[in-house]
Amino acid sequence: MTDPVKQYVYSFAEGDGHNKMLLGGKGANLCEMTQIGLNVPPGFTITTEACLAYLESGNTLPDGVMKEVREQMTTLEKLTGKGFGDAHNPLLVSVRSGSAISMPGMMDTILNLGMNSDTLQGEIEQTGDERFAYDAYRRFIQLFGKVALGIADEHFDEPFESIKKREGVKEDVGLSADNLKEISEVFLEVVHGQTGRPFPENPYEQLDLAIKAVLGSWSGKRAVDYRREFGITPDMANGTAVNICTMVFGNRGNDCATGVAFTRNPGTGENIFYGEYLVNAQGEDVVAGIRTPKPIAQMREEMPDIYRQLEELRSKLETHYTEIQDFEFTIEKGILYCLQTRNGKMNTQAMVRTSVELVAEGLINKEQALLRIAPESLEQMLFPRLDPRADVTPLATGLPASPGAACGHVVFDADRAVAQKSVNSRPLILLREETKPEDIHGFFVSEAILTSRGGKTSHAAVVARGMGKPCVAGADGIEVDVAARRAHIGDVVIKEGDIITIDGTSGNVYLGAVPTVEAEFSEELKTLLGWADERADLKVMANADIPEDAERALRYGAMGIGLCRTERMFNAAERLPIVLEMIVSDTLEQRQAALDKLLPIQRQDFIELFTTMAPNPVTVRLLDPPIHEFLPSENQLLDDLIQLKHLKDTMRGSEVLSATLSLLSNINGKIAPIQQLADSSLVDEAIEKKEAILKKVRSLFEVNPMLGHRGVRLGITFPEIYAMQIRAVLEAACACQKAGVEVHPEIMIPQVCTSEELKSIKVHVEAIRKEVELSEGVAPIFRFGTMMEVVRACMRADELAQEADFFSFGTNDLTQATFSFSREDAENKFLPMYNEAGILQDNPFEVLDANGVGKLMKLAVGWGRGVKPDMKIGICGEHGGHPASIRFCHKIGLSYVSCSGPRVPIARLAAAHAALLESTQ
Ligand code: PEP
Ligand code: MG
Repeated sequence: MTDPVKQYVYSFAEGDGHNKMLLGGKGANLCEMTQIGLNVPPGFTITTEACLAYLESGNTLPDGVMKEVREQMTTLEKLTGKGFGDAHNPLLVSVRSGSAISMPGMMDTILNLGMNSDTLQGEIEQTGDERFAYDAYRRFIQLFGKVALGIADEHFDEPFESIKKREGVKEDVGLSADNLKEISEVFLEVVHGQTGRPFPENPYEQLDLAIKAVLGSWSGKRAVDYRREFGITPDMANGTAVNICTMVFGNRGNDCATGVAFTRNPGTGENIFYGEYLVNAQGEDVVAGIRTPKPIAQMREEMPDIYRQLEELRSKLETHYTEIQDFEFTIEKGILYCLQTRNGKMNTQAMVRTSVELVAEGLINKEQALLRIAPESLEQMLFPRLDPRADVTPLATGLPASPGAACGHVVFDADRAVAQKSVNSRPLILLREETKPEDIHGFFVSEAILTSRGGKTSHAAVVARGMGKPCVAGADGIEVDVAARRAHIGDVVIKEGDIITIDGTSGNVYLGAVPTVEAEFSEELKTLLGWADERADLKVMANADIPEDAERALRYGAMGIGLCRTERMFNAAERLPIVLEMIVSDTLEQRQAALDKLLPIQRQDFIELFTTMAPNPVTVRLLDPPIHEFLPSENQLLDDLIQLKHLKDTMRGSEVLSATLSLLSNINGKIAPIQQLADSSLVDEAIEKKEAILKKVRSLFEVNPMLGHRGVRLGITFPEIYAMQIRAVLEAACACQKAGVEVHPEIMIPQVCTSEELKSIKVHVEAIRKEVELSEGVAPIFRFGTMMEVVRACMRADELAQEADFFSFGTNDLTQATFSFSREDAENKFLPMYNEAGILQDNPFEVLDANGVGKLMKLAVGWGRGVKPDMKIGICGEHGGHPASIRFCHKIGLSYVSCSGPRVPIARLAAAHAALLESTQ
């Protein structure tokens, strides 16, 4: 059996409109539009397969392609009644590129092909318009010369400009037929001079060269760079098709026009016809902005009949494609042609609005409405962003650690931020090398956070995300000098009070105030996310630590709190001294006294959180970070001590001076004694306190604190700390229950690696539960579970499941532990290079590493559910808000994802996508 001869060319009347890989987006749509009866100028498409074969064979067209092309040209001649190369009634065509994914302006196009000295006369004869014909001719020579013959633009531009100058005209439209004739002749000479050959007169030679040039433009530098930049892989678009289409002209008189339109307003999504047109003009005039186009509504008066046809075209396109269309049209001698259509690119507001309205109009169903919006794109609606019209250059770039844009006055430490805020309300941006828990009050009063160190899971990033404040982390080029209240970025010096703008979505930092656009959580978005919740299997929880964050998370649609990091509750200014007291205590009694002061505070926090979230679950994680994180650094303390000791010496000096002066004054009776500077016993006390803290800091020092005395290890070695927190949770639960509030608190233990640790904590939980039940008179409702953030915990999931009611994957630490990459440092050090070199595809702290970390999770889920089949298992690491990672969580059967409050809407949509895509694949 012989293979049928491969078909490389399809007429618009026969090509498969759904096969964009073969015919390219433009070609497929031209076929589709032709076949549904829209008025498309006749034409045909050479397939992307021909392109690949051409490029692979070293630029030779596969056998038979030009034969097919000639057959199609003969058909075009029949359909149009014109002849290709006919000196009286010439057929002219456009030769356009078009791949499966639109790559605007990256590949080549040639218009008016078929013109030569004979057909030029034919055009004049047909149109009776010499100027038009010469204009078309000179445009063709120029475009063909550039694209097919490789002649640089300037060889055409220079003579063209000099003739315009000589004639005293600014715009091309000011040139006469004679001028254009002269320009055509000059252009023909340019071609001859540059190529050593006369301009090709034979239309088929022109067509052959043009097709090859367009095919070759797929591997041109512009196109290759574009594909790399936008991650367009061969399975998305492979090769360009070539579309050969009968030319129609919008510049042949006042009954001609050209324009572009959207079936709805792409800026707002509103269902109104939106577009622009120009009478007596070519498409490129609209694009080039030489003349100002008119709004489409004006056509209703100017060309009422055509306007009615355009409205009809608009409605047919939308009904057929069930998507907003962006289309190009030309009117030639009163006849409307559609030259191209594609799905309209819109901003997220418009996408959301059209999704909801297309469902209401019955054009799409809810699933389609959800799937047409990329979850990540919702970020545009949830955070303020830089005004897209602002033309600005960044001063520095760091990691986009928490989205949104903000501008404000720079302040270099948290205390000064608070002090400044108390005197005026101007917006502040906290700029630090890195942040620590003790900086938290600075976060509260700042609009945004900028750090020169740290990654996307650094303290600054995680806290800012939780608060919904923009953050750029690890902006390497910034050198912060806190003492001098200055930062250097190259030669630029930023002083305290200077205004900067940061964009946490891109990671860019700008000098001065860049205008921003406000966030908008619209009614349509609420509707859409309601549909998402109906379709999703995963629940979406929020990471929130204080009632204010919880309230915001609720507004975003959180179905509970999946992670309350209790250490964050210790950070309020009035609480830190008590925490400090607890840490520096030398005896159990002293520590217990401090904990007794913290208990009512924590209990009240939990009552507020549980009540805010009722009846949804709230997962409370007991203290996790190493406690020295609440203490100042050794250097800071040493500095303070030096200052205090200086002060003490100065005071001693002042005493001597005072005594001496009073003696002198007794002698000459003139000089009054000076006052003491301060009470010296206070200074002694301060020195003593600082020294005690320094001693503690030194005793708590660890080389690797992230792998050190933290989490459950802390809870086991200082059981009284966890006991206070457990009691606070259980008493708060009882208080809510007694007040008739339905609560579902969950106690979660961090950093667990063996079931023995869980058992040991459980003993305390049980003892405290009994005491609380007795004292409160009700049995507190709660569950007990563990974080899964240590590799060993995953490997021992079956054992842990015996002790835990639930698991929550802490993928920040689990990623750190699985890769042995420091989550604080890797992103500013080797990770970017790893990504660039393709050693790692993604940043594993941002995109869950399904093959490694994910595999561990999958095993742990299997082993855990092997013991408890219905076990609730979730994720609370930062990956819980990342759409592709959420999809993975859905696949391995997690019950919920938990992410920072402002990412909840993104996660809700991503959870729905995960379920819908699974059912359609
Ligand atoms: C984690 O490790 O993923 C986690 C949620 O805990 P934290 O980021 O507080 O260490
Ligand atoms: Mg952790």
